[in-house]
Amino acid sequence: MAEPGAAAPTVPAAARRRAAELREELAHHNYLYYVLDAPEIEDSDYDALFRELQELEASYPRLQTKDSPTRTVGARASTPFRKVRHRVAMYSLQNAFSLQEVDAFASRVRRLLGEDPALVAELKIDGLAVSVTYERGELSLGATRGDGQEGEDVTANIRVISEVPQRLDPGSVPGLPQAIEVRGEVYMSREALAELNRARAEADLPLYANCRNAAAGSLRQLDWRITEERHLQAFFYASDPHPLGIRSQQDLLAWLEASGFPVNPHHRSLRGREEVEAYLERWREERHQLGYQTDGVVLKVDALSQQEELGWDSRTPRWAVAFKFPPEERETRVREIQVSIGRTGVATPVAILDPVLVAGSTVERATLHNEDQVRAKDIRVGDTVVLRKAGEVIPEVVRVVLERRRRGSRRFHMPKACPVCATQLVREEGEAATRCPNPLCPAQRLQRLIHFVSRGALDIDRCGPKVLEELLQRGWVETPADLFGLSPERLEQLSMLGRRSARQLQAAIQSRRHPSLERFVYALGLPHVGESTARLLAQHFGSLEALRAADQEAATQVGGIGPTVGAAVSDFFASEGGRALVDRLLQAGVSPSQAERAGGPWLGRTLVLTGSLGGRTRAEAEQLIRQLGGSAASSVSRKTYAVIAGEGAGTKLEAARRLKVPVLDEAQFEAWLERPESEPWAPEDGDGAAGADAETAPDPAAGPPPAGSA
Ligand code: NAD
Repeated sequence: MAEPGAAAPTVPAAARRRAAELREELAHHNYLYYVLDAPEIEDSDYDALFRELQELEASYPRLQTKDSPTRTVGARASTPFRKVRHRVAMYSLQNAFSLQEVDAFASRVRRLLGEDPALVAELKIDGLAVSVTYERGELSLGATRGDGQEGEDVTANIRVISEVPQRLDPGSVPGLPQAIEVRGEVYMSREALAELNRARAEADLPLYANCRNAAAGSLRQLDWRITEERHLQAFFYASDPHPLGIRSQQDLLAWLEASGFPVNPHHRSLRGREEVEAYLERWREERHQLGYQTDGVVLKVDALSQQEELGWDSRTPRWAVAFKFPPEERETRVREIQVSIGRTGVATPVAILDPVLVAGSTVERATLHNEDQVRAKDIRVGDTVVLRKAGEVIPEVVRVVLERRRRGSRRFHMPKACPVCATQLVREEGEAATRCPNPLCPAQRLQRLIHFVSRGALDIDRCGPKVLEELLQRGWVETPADLFGLSPERLEQLSMLGRRSARQLQAAIQSRRHPSLERFVYALGLPHVGESTARLLAQHFGSLEALRAADQEAATQVGGIGPTVGAAVSDFFASEGGRALVDRLLQAGVSPSQAERAGGPWLGRTLVLTGSLGGRTRAEAEQLIRQLGGSAASSVSRKTYAVIAGEGAGTKLEAARRLKVPVLDEAQFEAWLERPESEPWAPEDGDGAAGADAETAPDPAAGPPPAGSA
């Protein structure tokens, strides 16, 4: 590193070349990461490139440029969102990758302040930074960080994150300024990511590599309804200006919490190296137990006066540092490479591993994606491999430990025939995927059935893969339509079911005869058609007949659908297999709900059931809601029309109270079913029998829930 005051050394040509290369490479990865939410490399690899450039620039200050990635934040957004100039710039954080680097931060701060300050440690939430502005207590603007100076206006999408307060009550929030900007992190929980990726895998869509990219991709949607479905959450940790009387970061966190903002509960005041070290050590492991991803710990100087004194440089505050946890890598052995066949026939090699604990859970399998990827890494049965979780979620074989390769091991070759139905596998030229072309392959049939009954499709309870597998084996079910002809007596013969559960399963199947059009379309399992595309198709065409008749041109007229998906849709309905699947369902009496088409009285209303209803099963109640045109959701948001709370209602009821969503008890729900055209809380003919009390009636100021808020 160059000494301050010394003449800057001349720059060797090799260093100049390398710096230019690194800048270009980092700019490319910034674009993929910040603009497209689809990085190609792991964060730790990015951090290593960043560090290399930082070190080169420190050794040769003449290499520094104003627009170097080491001096700028994020990337300029080039998206259709309106641009918002931040009143106060949004910063990144300086990184520390070891305790020594944390020590170096502490000594710098000590030198500048002349004393050892108190620090606050917070978990570094792996999401994306947002700024939310409130004017006279009303949420008026939500923006992303962008390049720190200018972000994107994502107000509509911020509004549907149920944890973000829509308004702050000046009466109960002490010291609330006329206008205040609060800053924090929008994130996606591990559970929400798993669910989203499951649905995307089923629709043949690329998976999100980690919670951060999924959160960023979900917040930056042009249609707020898609954002709403993604169940984003948020934690807040900063404000501008600081409310009156706030003197420290700890005070601010307490104020945010008291004002109704979600604040991560694991922050601590720390003094001295030992306390810092213990906190970092504790969270290195414990973070894997949290329901959301963290990529480090942020250490901040607590006193706001000291923060002011230390100030900011071009990219980061000098009063904070982010300690980044190293990615966890473990070695294990490949026992076997199996080939699994998916719903559309794609054959995927999967490594079966000696079980090993990585990033908080035991891993026994890792997808190897396709033949080319196995070849590129040259993974062989018996190899010792390094395993990590890409984005801390998806198990990934990073590399083979070649020194430990056994003699005589053999390269992997994709089998010639399908391991399930023995049909010749095919690989089209220019495609990475190998496929089993036999639509009657039992593996594909099973996967199609699993998809048909899955949550986003017909959502048939108690119909797990084991049950479906046995039904296929016995030859009782060949296509989804056959499920509807199963009698309880037949189901009772399955090895997994008793009398009662056979009846319940049969009732669950029957209750799904008339799903909404979007569920029906999604359940058909068209290539590239996930839940959101199914919804777009359903909204555009309005009926199954119109959709079936659509040619490629008509299908591409649907906003948000491109030529590939348009072609997949029209090809499916024109194909023999697609036509037969739909015809058989119709013959079995399974068709999209008529009520929805006719615009039933509850159209556009989303209801959430919680607890158990004495008189009906959950499936029956949901079916009734759908028949009346409403939709049944599994989680509560501000857009929920009402929560129906039965016996033993728990967290969803609490959520309803917190979000001021009206609550109906079972009797009120039943009365409403009898008179679905009336409002559930309107007194009946003046006798007040079905009326809800003032506490549960909707807030008239909140206006009606927007149409189509399902
Ligand atoms: P950063 O993620 O290292 O740190 C700054 C951010 O941390 C803040 O903007 C804020 O959003 C967040 N944060 C979370 N919890 C916080 C808390 N409690 N207090 C304060 N801030 C908190 O910096 P960055 O500029 O957002 O991103 C740079 C990082 O992103 C890199 O280090 C790299 O890991 C990753 N990245 C990866 C790629 C790739 O291709 N894989 C590309 C670009 C960036």
